[in-house]
Amino acid sequence: QDHRLVRVDDAWLHLPNRWGIPVEICAGPEVPLEPAAVDEVLTLLETADTLARVAPGARITRVALTPDFHKGAGIPIGTVLETEHALLPQAVGNDINCGMRLEVTSLQADRVRPRLDALERRLRHLFFEGGRRIALTPAQREALLRDGLPGLLLTGDARWPGVQPEDADDSLDRMHAPAFPAATAEAFADWIGSAGGTSHDSIIGGIGGGNHFVELQYVSAVHDARAAHAWGLSPGTVVVMAHSGSLSLGHQANATALDHLRAGWPSGLPRPRNGILPFPLNERSEPARRSYLDAFGNAANFALGNRFFLSLTMRAGLAAECGELSARLLYDAPHNLFWQEGDRVVHRKGATPAGGFAETAGGPYAMWGEPVIVPGSMGAASYVLRGHGDPRTLASACHGAGRRVPRGATARAGDDELDAFLRDFRVVTPLDHRDPVVARRSDVMAAWRRDLKQEAPWAYKDIGPVVAGLAAGGVADPVAELRPLLTVKG
Ligand code: 5GP
Ligand code: MN
Ligand code: MN
Repeated sequence: QDHRLVRVDDAWLHLPNRWGIPVEICAGPEVPLEPAAVDEVLTLLETADTLARVAPGARITRVALTPDFHKGAGIPIGTVLETEHALLPQAVGNDINCGMRLEVTSLQADRVRPRLDALERRLRHLFFEGGRRIALTPAQREALLRDGLPGLLLTGDARWPGVQPEDADDSLDRMHAPAFPAATAEAFADWIGSAGGTSHDSIIGGIGGGNHFVELQYVSAVHDARAAHAWGLSPGTVVVMAHSGSLSLGHQANATALDHLRAGWPSGLPRPRNGILPFPLNERSEPARRSYLDAFGNAANFALGNRFFLSLTMRAGLAAECGELSARLLYDAPHNLFWQEGDRVVHRKGATPAGGFAETAGGPYAMWGEPVIVPGSMGAASYVLRGHGDPRTLASACHGAGRRVPRGATARAGDDELDAFLRDFRVVTPLDHRDPVVARRSDVMAAWRRDLKQEAPWAYKDIGPVVAGLAAGGVADPVAELRPLLTVKG
């Protein structure tokens, strides 16, 4: 264990620091914690000095780290940061509103398993070969960016293959947030104006590469029968998990905000050594902050729409190969966002909300707590848990197992390991590796294998101890365990 971390008990550690800021980590002794990520947290805390200089009262009040936390570009993935009188775009990350969406289908795993070959071909066509048709009018695009999913579903003819009438109403309750209202969508006028059929049209409903995915899973074990029953998670039930963010929109929103912050940095103040630039919540920063908030809302809304269309595309594939089905949204959980209440701001970068009774009072999850979606990897179990709103994590939990080895390092895994993985699990990528013509292209195949090794199960932490730590720490309890049937990786 890192000597800078102090273990409190089996589930909790804390990181003492010279600012006296509470920094708590929920992780059991078996969860590996990366020293480079601890370095990064200490560097992040230097922002306390920056805040003290930029605005009276601006400060960091609390930091929580989830068990999947690992080094990011400046701020670790898995960081929850609470501030007063300051907003930090970098503590949200560039992929604004990256998140997980989980739908429960009416299908059983036995119905899907024998049809996986045909399903694989169909999904490759739908996701990667121009088979998906998501026609959006400029009015619909603007409505989505300004008013989120309700805006999209109420504008024009909100009908796409696989959308049932109920998608337009009650499913919107089963989301952490169905909309991030923005006053304008001017920053993305290009995308709004591009009429159907152009290359821009294809960006919505795209997976986005890397760790993003759409996965077909089935309920392999139930850990809390009452909550699982309430959520429709009976053994064998097929579910769809979609993980994606705002593609290029989030990056654009954050880049613009940072340009503003750099250009407007007070000439008398030293530039922060750690490169983290805050918006003080005062009048001086108001105009730039307002345009950031609009662009942030637009990107966050785009991500909601993107996950919606990803699930829809999967549903269309399932309906074509496995027959009629219905699908019900269990939850849409954002893991790169900030939440502002008055002067207090909670930023989550790679951490998912895990509210309890108080946070979900009156809603469909009041009895059980907020659904917490924790994917493992394309070759391991994933979990659905129920949150308890623990104040030590600022009512947050991990959003995955977390990378164990940095990208690049994993490429050293052996070819035999990859072959064994490919025998046991089904991955749908733009490239059909079983096509004999493709298989003869050794350069293409080598690049494909290298990319896949970065995403294979050994690249991620073992999900078991990660989830056990959440339960031991009182953060969230497992409701059901899910196993992959097929993963679409783009
Ligand atoms: P991130 O949001 O930081 O990109 O990653 C979220 C988490 O998703 C990772 O920490 C990892 O545990 C999980 N993950 C990555 N790829 C896959 C996949 O293909 N399938 C599943 N089920 N989980 C994955
Ligand atoms: Mn992302
Ligand atoms: Mn993500």
